[in-house]
Amino acid sequence: MADLDEFQLLERAINIFQEQFESEASYAACAPGRVNLIGEHTDYNDGFVFPIAIPQVTMVVGRPNSDQMIRVFTAVTEVDHPFLVRFPVPTATSKLAPGSPTWANYVKGVVSLYPGTLSGFDMVIVSSVPLGGGLSSSASLEVATFTLMQSMFPCQVSDKEKALICQKAEHTFAGMPCGIMDQFISSMGSKDHALLIDCESMESKQVQLRLPRQSLLIINCNVKHQLSGSEYPSRRQSCIDAASLLQVKSLRYADQTMLEAHKNDMSDETYRRSRHVISEIERTREAVIAFENGDLAKFGKLMVASHNSLRDDFEVSCPELDSLVEIAMSVSGVYGSRMTGGGFGGCTITLCETSSLEQLMAEVKQRYDGTATFIHASAAAGAHSIVLPNQD
Ligand code: ADP
Ligand code: MG
Repeated sequence: MADLDEFQLLERAINIFQEQFESEASYAACAPGRVNLIGEHTDYNDGFVFPIAIPQVTMVVGRPNSDQMIRVFTAVTEVDHPFLVRFPVPTATSKLAPGSPTWANYVKGVVSLYPGTLSGFDMVIVSSVPLGGGLSSSASLEVATFTLMQSMFPCQVSDKEKALICQKAEHTFAGMPCGIMDQFISSMGSKDHALLIDCESMESKQVQLRLPRQSLLIINCNVKHQLSGSEYPSRRQSCIDAASLLQVKSLRYADQTMLEAHKNDMSDETYRRSRHVISEIERTREAVIAFENGDLAKFGKLMVASHNSLRDDFEVSCPELDSLVEIAMSVSGVYGSRMTGGGFGGCTITLCETSSLEQLMAEVKQRYDGTATFIHASAAAGAHSIVLPNQD
């Protein structure tokens, strides 16, 4: 479904809803995936990130029902069985718990934390965001679910609160201690703009994507390395340990001089993890200024420095991502390239002259030792509901 546009996805979701629930969907909402241009693994350190929402979305359609049950069907087949789940509307005395299938935990988490008054509903999920590819299908599913529930069971929630609730759902129900970036950009993305997000204050600034002769290309390496589960939590813990040792609230408030002064008080691993975070926060600030000044050469260099730091210091890259970056950087007209997202597989993002796109893709097809897929990235709008003709 990766190539379907929003309208085609909606049509598909409506048809599937009819098949599954033998009634017509009356509400619809969608929320985008995202690609982060720079600022990786900085969000949970109170730092800065600079993502765009992409045209690929999770689309959900639904209809309130008259029993106190929630039924959810996903049309995505790469997830664990069953594709249809049912669970009761949670109450103060009977709460929901995460369980199997794991994909449903993202929905259950949002349902559990929804601040409005719920009753039963049926829902279908379709998506054009690749799953587990570092483009944040999980946040787009959470935010789309929340946005649909807001249409069906209205409650006053700001976009920031919505992002925070969806993040909490991912922490508590999916067991992933993610930062705020993904849910924030999915709910607040803006067409033709990247968002500089200050992950501490949750303030954001829209930066117009002025790329008259340039393009952003997402390249999916289509590899997802099996993780033990401790990779992200252990890195998060290293950042917390270092901040405590440096006596700062978070690594946002540390600098390289402070870190060097305490180098011998911490393990080499903690030192390198911290060096990535501190330098990446600084790089993100510099990159946004460069972007605003139209200095794409500098922006590109900072992208590559970000990749190298993620590879060598934070150690979240992998040979496939490194190879894609290396190939991209060998093509003339490419400003910069880096892994994007959590790492260990997924995607790279490359900024290049539009006239170099064909050659870039040809080089990757020829030299990458695997099957890469390409997504032309543009900055799309954040989550929104869609009014259906038969909405109450
Ligand atoms: P990413 O967010 O980078 O795509 P994650 O591992 O964080 O990768 O999230 C992917 C998981 O989110 C999937 O394995 C699945 O459990 C869930 N998910 C995302 N989109 C859907 C969908 N359309 N239907 C069902 N589950 C989904
Ligand atoms: Mg995710």
